[in-house]
Amino acid sequence: MPITPALAWIDVALAPTAIAVYCLAALLAVSAGLALALLWRVHVERTRLARGRRQLAQQQAYAQALLDSLPFPVTVKDRDGAYLMLNAASRRDIRIDADAIGRTSLALPDHGPFEIEGAQPTRQRLHQSSLAVVEAGQGRQCEIAYTGGDGSHRAGLWWDCPVRVDDRGVVGSLGVLLDVTRFQQREQAARAAEQSLLEIAHHVPVLVFTVSLDAGGRRRLLFLAGDLRALFGLAPQDLVEAGDALRDWPFGDRIHPEDKSRVRRLLIRARRDASVHTLDFRAYGEEGLRWLHLVMAPRALPDGSVHWSGYFIDTTGINAHNEALRAARDAAERASKAKADFLATMSHEIRTPMNGVIGMLELLRHTRLDAEQQELLHAVEDSAGVLLQVLNDVLDFSKLEAGDLRLDDAPFDLRTLVDNVVGMMATHMHKKGLRIQVAVDAALAGQLVGDSVRIRQILLNLLNNAGKFTDSGSVSVGVRVIGDDGGSQRVRLSVADTGIGIAADKQVNLFTPFSQAESWTTRRYGGSGLGLAICRHLIQLMDGSIKLTSEPGAGTTVTVELRLPVERRDVERPPGLAGRHAIVRLAAPAVAAALADHLLALGLTVEQVPPAQPLRSGLAANLLFVDRDDETSPPLVAAQAIAVDADAAALGAPQVEGERIQLGANPLKWRSVARACEMGLAPLSPRPRSFHGPAPAAAEPARGQGRGRILVAEDHPVSQTLVRRQLELLGWPCDVVGDGHEAYEALRQGRYAMLMTDCQMPRMDGYELASSWRRHEAETGSFTRLPIVAMTASALDGEGRRCRDAGMDDYLDKPVQLHQLAEKIAAWMPEQVQPQRPSAGVPPVAADRLFDDPAMQALKADLLRTLRETGHADLLRLGQAIDDDDAQAAAQWLHRLLGALQLFCDDELLAEGRQWLEILQAGGEPDVLRRLPPYLDDLRQLLDRLDQPAASLPAG
Ligand code: ADP
Repeated sequence: MPITPALAWIDVALAPTAIAVYCLAALLAVSAGLALALLWRVHVERTRLARGRRQLAQQQAYAQALLDSLPFPVTVKDRDGAYLMLNAASRRDIRIDADAIGRTSLALPDHGPFEIEGAQPTRQRLHQSSLAVVEAGQGRQCEIAYTGGDGSHRAGLWWDCPVRVDDRGVVGSLGVLLDVTRFQQREQAARAAEQSLLEIAHHVPVLVFTVSLDAGGRRRLLFLAGDLRALFGLAPQDLVEAGDALRDWPFGDRIHPEDKSRVRRLLIRARRDASVHTLDFRAYGEEGLRWLHLVMAPRALPDGSVHWSGYFIDTTGINAHNEALRAARDAAERASKAKADFLATMSHEIRTPMNGVIGMLELLRHTRLDAEQQELLHAVEDSAGVLLQVLNDVLDFSKLEAGDLRLDDAPFDLRTLVDNVVGMMATHMHKKGLRIQVAVDAALAGQLVGDSVRIRQILLNLLNNAGKFTDSGSVSVGVRVIGDDGGSQRVRLSVADTGIGIAADKQVNLFTPFSQAESWTTRRYGGSGLGLAICRHLIQLMDGSIKLTSEPGAGTTVTVELRLPVERRDVERPPGLAGRHAIVRLAAPAVAAALADHLLALGLTVEQVPPAQPLRSGLAANLLFVDRDDETSPPLVAAQAIAVDADAAALGAPQVEGERIQLGANPLKWRSVARACEMGLAPLSPRPRSFHGPAPAAAEPARGQGRGRILVAEDHPVSQTLVRRQLELLGWPCDVVGDGHEAYEALRQGRYAMLMTDCQMPRMDGYELASSWRRHEAETGSFTRLPIVAMTASALDGEGRRCRDAGMDDYLDKPVQLHQLAEKIAAWMPEQVQPQRPSAGVPPVAADRLFDDPAMQALKADLLRTLRETGHADLLRLGQAIDDDDAQAAAQWLHRLLGALQLFCDDELLAEGRQWLEILQAGGEPDVLRRLPPYLDDLRQLLDRLDQPAASLPAG
């Protein structure tokens, strides 16, 4: 076989020994090589081992650092529960030292940091927990209490988790302690709060709840505290079905039947409306019916559900208390009302005969009296007037106190009102030698809205005081517009005098009832001390203010401020004045300014040229107002001159004296200025009849010596006779008709200067008559507006408004008094107020012999006869109406009967009758007709008494 060249030398050169040597050497060399390689290998492994150890140590250190960086204790244990690792927090917070490594917690002293919780020492529990975790391969947790590193008591949550290695399974456990002290404290606080809420709710009569309503409409009761049984007679489980699902309408059966629908409505509303809802209702509690007050508010949550939180509180006690208070208040109010009613009734009862007395005195004045009798009469009249004023004040005050006085707002003309009031007071003031000045702002609207009767009363009162407490000098009435917002004007009314004044310390109490500045005031000046108190009350009702400034010896000024809505800006004025030019040349600046204001309001342009200033030559105007004694100015100006007399007492209309028109300025009345302008601008044409437009020739009264006739619509024969005779006394011819229909026909056929109508009449009543006639006027485009004055026996509030609404201009209270009748006629036909003799067509009644005259006795006897005839017939018809169960007819006949009877007597029986009438008219009491007959008997007796000789009757 071929030998390889490399071994060939062995064959050739070496002997077997040598071969052995060679082999040995070779072996040695190989061994040495292997040993070297081994050594190298060992070196390499050692190096790697050292590096591995270093890395391990580093990793351990890193792992330890990681553990140490955790702020809570972490322990790592082996399967037997011996500690493998601990972090810094373990040493710090639960004080398990490093020497615990390799030992179980059982081996550690048990008085360590852990507290004892429950029966078992904590360390033992922890040890068992870690063994159990390894065993089950599942984590577990438990709460522990321990003392922290700072010695404080802490609450902890101990977590044990198994440590799993892939191929070896669970090799140990990891323990973590979380400090939950803060959470626990909060929870405890919350729990304590809840507990105290529960306790509070249990001890006070409230029921606090939270209910949730989810998007699907399911309701759950989240919270409930309080005495459910006391409030609703229920137990908490009665409210819920399964779990905490709230039953539908859980309190339903417990709510008072009358309140159920309100509670339901609230709940329905509360679902839509996110505001706080409250409700008072009654529910049946354990001990009976309770009053509950519910307050609840919704809170919408992001998941679409709504939480309702709220409470029910038992207000039965409070309600009972309130009820008692209310009853006490009502009783007090009733008492006060009774007092006010008593005062009102008393003053009303006294007022009626007083009116009779004053009326009779008035008539007496027209009889023939000697000087002494006249003086005595004057004194009696004075006292009667004062007494009536006191009665009126007491009546008003008691009404105000009782809250019975209501304002009756309607459009009115403040200029006319001031005119009338000043006119009423002027005579009295002139008698005392006082001058009266009036100034009304040109900016004042033509018609404002307010209670003109009350404003007039206030103004009268102030003027009356001014007149009373001023012995010389003047009294000034001013109206200024101090604000205007387009819809309403703020008006300042002022009454200033130059009288005795009031000391500062006395001014304070003047607005309190029954107070006067000085005790001697009553003795010397009379008065009740109620006037200013009433004014203040009334002004307060109108939301206005009143102020008094005064200085002893220098005089007093009272200002009243009112805000009144504007009804119409335009001032009612005679046609043909607008755009005319007037020159005012008067020495007294106040009079000149007041006149200029009136002229501006009448639509004229005004130029003031005081007498000190020379007149420009060629000056022209429509009207020139000069002082009475100024003879030089009129020839210099091409204008109709009107002489103004600022001193002489002026009341009547302007007069024509030669070429000049005379206008009185004491006081400077609005209507007089308007009339003077009219006269000045059309000196030759017939004087227009009224502000409502120039009267065409046909508008002149058809009969009655140029004064026209008055139409009276009145159904009752007695009242008919009375009014007819009163008008005769005043010199007015009249036609009397029995109902609205007849009146309407009469108005259509004849021309009347005025209509006076009863309100309640058969067929067509006064209201309907007035509104029909106003319609007629509108339809026919009548130039004149017929003054319509109602005669009403209804003392009801709002009667004035009802009359006005029907188109009437004014009303008179029944029984109609002569002087009131005269006043109304004067107010509505001012151009015809001058007394005139009666017309030829009427039997002349000599006014000066009236009272003694048999004519007056005849009137009284006439009236009585008529009453006797009609009264019994009316009673029969009234009885018939009762039998027919016809309340309306009964009211009508009773009204008629009372209307007539009140002329002769005004006793309780009539007062009772008025109450029956009110009940009948209100139609509210079903058996009223059955209760009436006894009253009818009383009336019959009264009528019988009237049958006795007239001498035994009350004055009538
Ligand atoms: P009386 O009915 O007494 O006038 P008032 O309330 O109207 O009641 O007035 C109360 C008191 O105020 C008066 O008595 C008087 O002392 C004083 N007084 C009121 N107005 C004036 C005035 N213009 N000048 C002086 N004193 C006045």
